[in-house]
Amino acid sequence: MKKRRILLVEDEQDIADLVSLHLRDMCDEVVVASDGFGGMRLATTESWSLVILDLCLPGPDGLEICRAIRRNSAYLPILMLTSKSSELDRVLGLETGADDYLTKPFSVLELVARVRAIFRRIENLQFSPEQAHDASQLVTSGNLSIDPSRREVRLDDQLIDLTAREFDLLSYFARNPGRVFRRADLLDEVWGYGHEGYEHTVNSHINRLRAKIEHNPSKPEMIVTVWGVGYKFAAQNSLNVAV
Ligand code: CA
Repeated sequence: MKKRRILLVEDEQDIADLVSLHLRDMCDEVVVASDGFGGMRLATTESWSLVILDLCLPGPDGLEICRAIRRNSAYLPILMLTSKSSELDRVLGLETGADDYLTKPFSVLELVARVRAIFRRIENLQFSPEQAHDASQLVTSGNLSIDPSRREVRLDDQLIDLTAREFDLLSYFARNPGRVFRRADLLDEVWGYGHEGYEHTVNSHINRLRAKIEHNPSKPEMIVTVWGVGYKFAAQNSLNVAV
């Protein structure tokens, strides 16, 4: 298995010490940056399995670092820590691409559970080398193809820039064509543990995904709404799902 390296960007020394102490049990290395400058440098120049970002930091804040990471890496998992619930919508919202969040004060066990869920999700959604080889051109729907080994999606041969969550959501749909999912099912399966009450997050991700993959996002043909229930992936002709 690939080495698990976690970057923790947190300016409160007590929290940084406590969190890194607990995370060391489940990964190979935890590196702490105590301000936004160090955090920005480490986040954008080294390779990580997960980045945990405090929102308010001296120097560049968590949102700036998150955006900088997303410019280079669509799929690196990011967990945001925020002390203002008023910031939650921004954290979850359109602009950042964070995968998960916790509001301070949080219990360290809750954080450990979230990190475990993120690793479990990544490892569940990864394919074995054999599967990845077999599925190297997973054609899901006419002109849409998903390459799970590279985590790339192409539409009409154009590479589509998806966040980690958008990729996971689309892959999950594509592996279950025709199946109807409630928003709560998608939260459980794609977001993982602890997102009860955030069904609207699913809607906003689906809207963003549609804007990127549907020819006409207002008349979606791939991710279709099932009124009163949720969503399904409507596989079109030339379906060739290899996983
Ligand atoms: Ca802080």
